[in-house]
Amino acid sequence: MRTRVGIIGAGPAGLTLAHLLRLRGIDSVVLEARSREYVERRVRAGVLEHPTVELLREAGVAGRLDREGMPHHGLSLRFDGTDHRIALADLTGRSITVYGQQEVVKDLIAARLDAGEPIVFEVSDVRPHDAETDQPYITYVDADGAPQRLDCDVIAGCDGSHGVSHAAVPSTTHAHDYPFAWLGVLAKAPPSHSELIYTHHERGFALHSMRTPEITRLYLQVPPEERIEYWPDDRIWDELGLRLAADGFTLTTGPIMEKGITTMRSVVTEPMRYGRLFLAGDAAHIVPPTGAKGMNLAIHDVWVLAEALARYFGEGRSDLLDEYSDTCLRRVWRAQHFSWWMTSMLHQAPGADDFQRRLQLSQLRYTATSTAAATSLAENYVGLPYR
Ligand SMILES: Cc1cc2nc3c(=O)[nH]c(=O)nc-3n(C[C@H](O)[C@H](O)[C@H](O)COP(=O)(O)OP(=O)(O)OC[C@H]3O[C@@H](n4cnc5c(N)ncnc54)[C@H](O)[C@@H]3O)c2cc1C
Repeated sequence: MRTRVGIIGAGPAGLTLAHLLRLRGIDSVVLEARSREYVERRVRAGVLEHPTVELLREAGVAGRLDREGMPHHGLSLRFDGTDHRIALADLTGRSITVYGQQEVVKDLIAARLDAGEPIVFEVSDVRPHDAETDQPYITYVDADGAPQRLDCDVIAGCDGSHGVSHAAVPSTTHAHDYPFAWLGVLAKAPPSHSELIYTHHERGFALHSMRTPEITRLYLQVPPEERIEYWPDDRIWDELGLRLAADGFTLTTGPIMEKGITTMRSVVTEPMRYGRLFLAGDAAHIVPPTGAKGMNLAIHDVWVLAEALARYFGEGRSDLLDEYSDTCLRRVWRAQHFSWWMTSMLHQAPGADDFQRRLQLSQLRYTATSTAAATSLAENYVGLPYR
């Protein structure tokens, strides 16, 4: 098989890239390790920045997002048992949209398959080769166990943090570990509040979020080595009730459909390119989920890559490809700082002394009461403009 762009991974990065390339008349093949059903059901992020929504609209894949996504014009910082609203739209003129990552993935898969373009699911032993030459290729084993080879002009490594692409790029990795993890819950219960609530509490951070008017997404800070078996549903609801308690707030409970623990890391790979292999999304960088940036960064990366590839294939110019890594990394580091800042402000660090806790509270109070500080949070949260 031969194509222009061989894409490894059918997450938000790989699927968005394939779609943007198709709109620019550039053919690609997407190779995915899992089944279609699996990737469409994988529950992860759910906050879309304003520029992400605009891009999906321009790309013609926002029909369902516009019907079912929930625009949010503000969020709450809850501390000392009180809500402090950050009016995202009033402060920035922009807002965010709550729409599950798996819904974005479903929309992109449907658009690609409707257009008759290939996604090869359930491949294994995927390997990029000869990225340093002008004839790179990918080998893999298909779902029937047959070895295959995909020749291409460019390889896009969109296979997340556990994929094979990252390891094929000789680069520097900057990493930071956090001394906590998130226990995430998806519950069949209407949201208890119309907006997201980021809670700083002496027992640890908690986040009230949602996916639909019937489904709540909730998170609790837990130790990084915590095991999900220690958290029966009743304990989760009790702990959420304690941390989210506030005057006039009632936590709506319901059957827990899914629960899991995600550790927190910040990782940046520099550069995001080796020869004709380009990394995008989680394959190149990971952010802690507090700033809701992971999926949004993945989509920004591939927007930059698609523009650069269009110029390369259309005009024979490689200037944008040469700038790809630097262009993406400017946004990645901004998102890293914002995610680290939100995480540090809201979580209880083990072993933190009274001095550090007072600094945290001072930062929270300043952010909640200063228009300048609230605007800084808001403009980062809704997403800085692409251009
Ligand atoms: C467990 C988890 C929970 C998260 N929760 C949140 C959250 O609550 N809030 C938030 O804002 N962000 C969250 N994130 C971050 C966000 O989901 C990611 O930033 C986003 O998925 C990045 O998209 P991506 O396309 O780069 O990578 P991914 O979504 O990881 O997609 C990579 C794709 O590549 C496939 N793949 C992997 N290896 C291979 C291979 N060798 N060959 C072929 N295909 C391969 C994978 O199956 C996958 O489909 C979470 C991430 C994880 C891992």
